[in-house]
Amino acid sequence: MSGPADTLAARWADVRARVDAACRAAGRDPAEVTILPVSKTFGAETVREAAALGLVRFGENKAQELRDKSAALADLPLEWVLIGHLQTNKAKDAARLASEVQSLDRLELADALHRRLLAEGRVLDVLVQVKTSPEESKHGLPPGELHGFLDRLGELPALRVRGLMTLAVQSDDPGAVRACFRQLRELRDAAAARGHELPRLSMGMSGDFPLAIAEGATEVRIGTAIFGSR
Ligand SMILES: *Cc1c(COP(=O)(O)O)cnc(C)c1O
Repeated sequence: MSGPADTLAARWADVRARVDAACRAAGRDPAEVTILPVSKTFGAETVREAAALGLVRFGENKAQELRDKSAALADLPLEWVLIGHLQTNKAKDAARLASEVQSLDRLELADALHRRLLAEGRVLDVLVQVKTSPEESKHGLPPGELHGFLDRLGELPALRVRGLMTLAVQSDDPGAVRACFRQLRELRDAAAARGHELPRLSMGMSGDFPLAIAEGATEVRIGTAIFGSR
């Protein structure tokens, strides 16, 4: 992007307008879709600038970076959302500092988070990250394990399971990308039929959010289109 309008405020307004347009194109109410700004790799001062625009929640993919930024910005009432792979030995940071973890993908991590949350006297909103693409590099629970996993999470009351999260396959084929998002929605619907209400679907990023919105995303995680390339 270039030109006089290339400011954080202008990019944020542009992203909101494009999300709203994607909602209308899909016959959906724009009020149903939240944008999670993803501030990973950008410094605390950039987040401060975004906070001055009224942004409150920020997505980070590393526990260490979340810790550093939340300390640098402790004077602001921000909410930190962990969206990246979380090592079990970093569960303490997440339990202390995150308002939400969207990358819950295994029982070992759920147990570790729960133990730490009990120690902190906190509860945490979580989304279960499901692997909907074949790429080895992507994390996530295998779809076939979701029902059993949700049953187990029911035994961990400090984790409030609010929905599902996924990353679509990286592909030039919109059909392949969209199939990942559709699978997440269908998993959500199947879970609901079994009594697990999961209202939130976090899916879609800068390059593919219109497809995610068409498949029912309630939240899109946007980094590059707001903050610039990394
Ligand atoms: C980086 C990241 C995003 C945002 O990606 P952009 O393409 O920059 O919008 C979304 N979700 C996750 C899990 C990420 O790690």
